[in-house]
Amino acid sequence: MINKDVPRIIPSSAHSISASAVSDNAINIIDQLKRAGYQAYLVGGCVRDLLLARIPKDFDLATDARPEEIKSMFRACRLIGRRFRLAHVRIGGEVIEIATFRAAPLPDDELDREQVHITDHGQVLRDNVYGTHQDDVLRRDFGINALYYDPQEQTVIDYVDGMSDLRDRMIRTIGDPLERFREDPVRMLRAVRFAAKLDFNIAPNAESAITEAASLLHHVPPARMLDEVTKLFHSGCALKTYKMLRSHSLFRYLFPFTEQCIDDMSPNLPAMALANTDARIQSGKPVIPAFLFACLLWDPVRADKDKLQDTGMDPRRAWSIATTDAIRDQAQHVAIPKRLAIVVKEIWALQSRLERRTPRSINMTLQHRRFRAAYDFLFLRTKANEIDPKIVDWWTRIQEADQREREAMIRALKSTRRGRGRKRKRRAA
Ligand code: ATP
Ligand code: MG
Repeated sequence: MINKDVPRIIPSSAHSISASAVSDNAINIIDQLKRAGYQAYLVGGCVRDLLLARIPKDFDLATDARPEEIKSMFRACRLIGRRFRLAHVRIGGEVIEIATFRAAPLPDDELDREQVHITDHGQVLRDNVYGTHQDDVLRRDFGINALYYDPQEQTVIDYVDGMSDLRDRMIRTIGDPLERFREDPVRMLRAVRFAAKLDFNIAPNAESAITEAASLLHHVPPARMLDEVTKLFHSGCALKTYKMLRSHSLFRYLFPFTEQCIDDMSPNLPAMALANTDARIQSGKPVIPAFLFACLLWDPVRADKDKLQDTGMDPRRAWSIATTDAIRDQAQHVAIPKRLAIVVKEIWALQSRLERRTPRSINMTLQHRRFRAAYDFLFLRTKANEIDPKIVDWWTRIQEADQREREAMIRALKSTRRGRGRKRKRRAA
């Protein structure tokens, strides 16, 4: 039973967190804050992950010390964020995020615009009203993310029955789901992200609220959407996340033009790209958002190019306009910073070079800084039956070949081209 006034204090004998699994730096910061008279706990994803015997991505803290007070205590501290003011303390290579306890925004007539900003859609764009520990619990998104851990006492503090949610493998919002999703529509994406990553269910009332509130994602600033998209698809279970986003009708608010092109009956390039990203993450290989954007926007950009060509435009111009438009239109939903757009365009531009295999440009193509990403993309396109497998095989072999073999492969290419040229001429004669 939820009693938001009295927390359940779970002693170390009744939970599975071992203090030795917690970052020493986080423990040191908590010790210092406590010695200075503040409350301080580990909170959120790290407590959840430790209880699930998973390795936390990072260690976040919550305290009643104000950001400026935290800053005055730690030399390597930076205050960041406007929507949420947070302190980042860097120790060694580790960054510990420290959030000051927050309270619910005040009623509208008492709002201080500097502290809180709520839009006409009910979205909270700034949320810097500070509160007590108990207030802080209620501002968090889900029961599983609202557990606090005190490393000195080795106790878990549970105000919202988060332990039961963990046991039931259930993502339940704190408070009314529709209200919480209206305040911050990104919470719907977070629900799906955690459900996919942890293999949890989303509570039925939250699922219905997602159906009702999904379109509010239109009002989330594209820059924040980019942060979230990266988290969704670089989590190591992107394919599952993508399927869940689609089944909850959320994907269309992230990549509307891609959604329009998806034909579930045929090989689906986005799904293949996401499976490929998962495999790379699992084998410790680097992943870049540009590769994903190149794959996700490929079908829309090709459809656009075809439409332009149908109006009589020459293919080069149609391609150039379609790529620029695709990136501009998508960026209305999920930000595509210039440096990302450049890489996406490079990966696309290399596709025709890879397909054509013009002998004199082979070495230049192999040395191109985006060759590897472009080759991986060509590989996926081959699996989607867009490309003759012989072409990608050729590029696979030439990468593995030594210099002498490479030159021989390029010579062979030249002679088949000449042969083809002669045949064509003869036929024309
Ligand atoms: P991850 O493993 O991805 O880091 P996390 O739960 O730690 O998961 P963060 O984005 O690091 O997620 O946020 C830390 C904590 O802050 C969350 O566990 C949650 O309690 C709270 N939080 C984050 N985003 C929101 C939000 N949009 N609304 C309410 N609470 C949030
Ligand atoms: Mg976290």
